[in-house]
Amino acid sequence: MSANPVRLQAITDVEAYVPPAPSCVPGETPGDLFGANVFSRTVMHKRLPKSVFRSVVATIDDSQVLDPQVADAVASAMKDWAIEKGATHYAHVFYPLTGFTAEKHDGFFDPVGDGTALAEFAGKTLVQGEPDASSFPNGGLRNTFEARGYTGWDVTSPAYILENPHGNTLCIPTVFISMTGEALDHKTPLLRAQQAMAVHAERVLTLFGHTPSAVVSYCGPEQEYFLIDRHFFVARPDLLNSGRTLFGAKPPKGQEFDDHYFGAIPERVLGFMADTERELFKLGIPAKTRHNEVAPGQFEIAPMFEAANVGADHQQLLMTTFKTVARKHGMECLFHEKPFEGVNGSGKHVNFSLGNATEGNLLLPGDTPHDNAQFLVFCAAVIRAVHQYGGLLRASVASASNDHRLGANEAPPAIISIFLGDQLAGVFEQLAKGPATSSKGRGTLQIGVDTLPVLPTDPGDRNRTSPFAFTGNRFEFRAPGSLQSVAGPMTTINAIMAEALDHIATKLETAVELGTELNEAVQSLLTELITDHGSVVFNGNGYSDEWQVEAAERGLPNLRTTLDALPELITESSVQLFERYGIFTESEAHSRYEIGLEHYTQSIMVEALSTLEIGQTSVLPAAVRYQTELATNVSALRTAGVEPDLDLLHEITSVIDDLRVGIGALRLALDGDHGDDGLAEATYAQTALLPAMATVRAAADALEAVVADDLWPLPTYQEMLYIL
Ligand code: ADP
Ligand code: MG
Repeated sequence: MSANPVRLQAITDVEAYVPPAPSCVPGETPGDLFGANVFSRTVMHKRLPKSVFRSVVATIDDSQVLDPQVADAVASAMKDWAIEKGATHYAHVFYPLTGFTAEKHDGFFDPVGDGTALAEFAGKTLVQGEPDASSFPNGGLRNTFEARGYTGWDVTSPAYILENPHGNTLCIPTVFISMTGEALDHKTPLLRAQQAMAVHAERVLTLFGHTPSAVVSYCGPEQEYFLIDRHFFVARPDLLNSGRTLFGAKPPKGQEFDDHYFGAIPERVLGFMADTERELFKLGIPAKTRHNEVAPGQFEIAPMFEAANVGADHQQLLMTTFKTVARKHGMECLFHEKPFEGVNGSGKHVNFSLGNATEGNLLLPGDTPHDNAQFLVFCAAVIRAVHQYGGLLRASVASASNDHRLGANEAPPAIISIFLGDQLAGVFEQLAKGPATSSKGRGTLQIGVDTLPVLPTDPGDRNRTSPFAFTGNRFEFRAPGSLQSVAGPMTTINAIMAEALDHIATKLETAVELGTELNEAVQSLLTELITDHGSVVFNGNGYSDEWQVEAAERGLPNLRTTLDALPELITESSVQLFERYGIFTESEAHSRYEIGLEHYTQSIMVEALSTLEIGQTSVLPAAVRYQTELATNVSALRTAGVEPDLDLLHEITSVIDDLRVGIGALRLALDGDHGDDGLAEATYAQTALLPAMATVRAAADALEAVVADDLWPLPTYQEMLYIL
C-alpha cells in the first residue's frame, strides 16, 4: 500500500527550509525608509508650484473642493517622480465590494508616431479612469449590459509606488462609482460618512466656542493573522479554496497552556515581520506593534492610527503586502476569521476616535472627565449612536467567515454593547441623576519590591469581552473580522456618529437660542442621553450566559448570524439614516444587502463543494485503503491460524459508512432546490449546506484518529500550527 507522498513530503520539505537573504541594506534605518515610495506632502512640497501645493493641501486638510486646474500640474509632477522611481505603469486602485483591492494598470509610454514613445500622464487621466464595472458586484444596481464604471482620484489618500523586480507601478487610490453615480466600492461611502460626521462634530465644537478646523475620524486597526508553512498550505485544497480548514481533528496540544500569547517570536516569523515592516515603511504605513497572539501560529500587527480613509487604504495594502512577503519566506498568511476549528480565530480590532488639528482628540477625557463637558458630549454621542444602531454595527461586520468567530468565547458576542470602564461608568452614573461632581482618579501599583518604581494604573480596566470598549482615549470595536476591510465598520461608525452629533448639536443650539446657558443645556442633555441610551453600557462579562438573558431584557438585539444581521442594512431606520446623511441612497443600501447575501452564499457554496471533493477524493480513499490493509491482515492472520481481533476493522468500517452517508447527503443538498432569490439561497446555504458539511467533517475527523498516519492525506492541525 503506498503512503501518502504529498503530506509526508511537505513535512520533509519544511525541515529543509532555508530563509531568504535579508532584504535590508546595511546602515539603512526605518526613518530613512519611511514614506520612500509615497507621493507625500514632503514630495509635493518639493515638486509642485507653491499655489498648486497650497490648493492640494486645502483639499486634504480642509475638505475644500479640488480645483480642476491643479490636476495637470500634480499629474505631471507625479509622473516625473514615479518614472524616476522606476515606474513604467500607473494604476487606479479601488476597493470594490468583492472585499479585495482592484487595480487597472496602464503604461505611461505612448507611441508618438515617429517610432519613439513618450511618457504621458495628463490631469484628466489622474482624476478619472474607466474600468469595466460589469464584472464587479453591484447588488442589482446595474444590468450586465451597462458596463461603464468610473474611478475617481481620492486626493486625501496619497499615491505610492508598488515595487516589483520587473518594473514598478504608480498606484493612485480612487473611488469606484457607476455611470449614474452609485457607489460600487468601500471608499465612497466612507468618505461620504466621514464628511457627514465632520459637519455635525464641527457644529458641536462651535457651540463650545471653537472655530474648528475640519474634524476627521481616526482608525487604528489591529490585525490578527496566522502563518503556516506553504508546503502545508498547498497540500490543503480547503485552505486554497476557502481560506479555512474544512477538515482536521483537534491536536493533542491546543492553546490550553496559554504559552503562545506574547511568547518569544520564532526566528523565522521575526524575519518575516521585519521584512513586511520594511515594505510597509516604504509605503508610509506606520507599522508599530507586533506580537504573538493567543493561538499557536497566530500573530498580530497594529499600525499607528491614521485618518480613517487613509488607514483603510493602508490596511488593504498591508494585507496584500503580508501575503506577498509571507510567500517569500515560504509561508502562507491566513486572514480568515477561523482557519482552524477549536483554535482561537482572528479579528481586526478597529480603534476609533475623532478630532482635528486645533482641538486634538475629542475622546480624550483628561484627569477629571466629570468636568470635561466637551469630552462627555462626544462620549455620550458614541453611547447614543451605538445604542440606536447596534444592529447596523453588527451588520457591518457580518460575513460567513466572521460567523465562526463572533460569540464563540474568543471574540465579543453578537450583542453590541459598550464598555466604559470604572471611571467613566462612575461619571455617567452620576450624570443619570444630575450633575457629575467627581471622577475616580488614577491609582498606583505597589509591586512589593523596593528597587522597582511605583507604577501608575489607569483609571479603568480593560474588558476583552466587550464589542465596543472605551480604552482611555478611543473606542475599540472588537467585532470586525480579520479578513474584512475596515472601511465598512468605519463607514457605519461615522454614519451613526453623524446622527448622534446632529441630534446633540440641534438640541444644544435650540436650548442656547432660547436663552439657556450652554453648561446647563449640556448638563440636562447628558442626563437625558444617558437615561435614554445607558442600557447599552455593560461593564460585565460579555461571554457569560447571564449577559445573553440580561441583554434581551434590556432590549438589545442579539443578531447571531449574518442572516440575522444583514436585514439591518435595509430597515426603515437605517435607510433613513443613510439617506439623511448622504451615505447611501435607498437603492445603494439595498445593493449592499444583496451583495452581503450573495457573498455569504458563495462562500458557503465554495466550502460545500470543497468538502465534497476532499471528502470523496482524499479522505474516503485513504480510509478505504487502510480498511483494505486491515482486511488483508485479517485474512492473512486467519490463513496463519491466528484468530484476528476485528474491533479496529469494524470501527473503521462503521466510520467509513458515516462518511459515505454524509457525502451522499451533502451531494443531495448541493443538488437540491436552493431557492430563487438572494435571501432564499443564503438561507438554504445556512440551513442545508452548513449542517451537511458538518456531518462529513465529523466522520472525516473521526477517521483521522483511526487511519494509519502514513496514509493520511491532509496535513494535520498539529503540523500546520506547530511546524514553522
Ligand atoms: P491593544 O493593547 O489594544 O492590543 P495595540 O497597541 O495592539 O493595543 O493597538 C492599539 C491601536 O489603537 C493602534 O493601532 C493605535 O495606533 C490605535 N490608537 C491609539 N490611539 C488612538 C486614537 N486616539 N484613535 C484611534 N486609534 C488609536
Ligand atoms: Mg493589540
